Amino acid sequence: MTRNFFVGGNWKMNGSLSQVNSLVEILNNASVPSNTEVVVAPPAIYIDRVRQAVKKEIEVAAQNCYYKASGAFTGEISPEQLKDMGINWVIIGHSERREIFGESDDFVGAKTQYALSAGLGVIACIGEKLDERESGKTEEVCFRQLKAIAEHVKDWSHVVVAYEPVWAIGTGKVATPEQAQETHAALRKWLAENVSKEAANNTRILYGGSVNGKNAAELGKKEDIDGFLVGGASLKPEFADIIAASS
Ligand code: PEP
Repeated sequence: MTRNFFVGGNWKMNGSLSQVNSLVEILNNASVPSNTEVVVAPPAIYIDRVRQAVKKEIEVAAQNCYYKASGAFTGEISPEQLKDMGINWVIIGHSERREIFGESDDFVGAKTQYALSAGLGVIACIGEKLDERESGKTEEVCFRQLKAIAEHVKDWSHVVVAYEPVWAIGTGKVATPEQAQETHAALRKWLAENVSKEAANNTRILYGGSVNGKNAAELGKKEDIDGFLVGGASLKPEFADIIAASS
């Protein structure tokens, strides 16, 4: 099975209008290999501007959404509203949402279910913290988080799993290609045993954590690494090199 490469850029709460315009220019000049899907996630206030200005082969995602269509949920955005604005993807369960905003496994699962039912594709994030890795709990934590998501997914064709070890996010401490591959292979095995062989073969599993223009190609060569979710480097011209990493 050939899984198309997937490169996501998570801009987090960064950027000004002029930086957003520069990033769009970088994206519009980047060459996107035919086997690669690119999805960028600007801060909510810039989503529509990016969707209007970026070339059509690049998709735009939200960094979060709620699990209701509308109502008295101050500060939230619904999947229906995202679809209304031509947005087809959302990141759910990023470690910053889990850690800073207290999102539980169950909440992440419920949001995944709702976003999928509203027609969004979901980039579902999981990953262990440093103390969990050091105490040998990487798989236990990742499997627990993946299970809470998998319980809410019927159709895996609109789900991309992002394995992001928390200790590697924004720290410059990238997992070695071997470390990342080991966990990706374990996650794929979990999908085969607990969901289906088809889901295991077809679901893209991305690596996230200090990916940059220099380390992307090496990581991307690993059998079970199907792309990246990129934070810091998605705000720089080197994001174009990461997009090209699979070619
Ligand atoms: C992220 O936040 O998803 C991420 C991977 O960040 P960085 O690339 O900066 O480590």
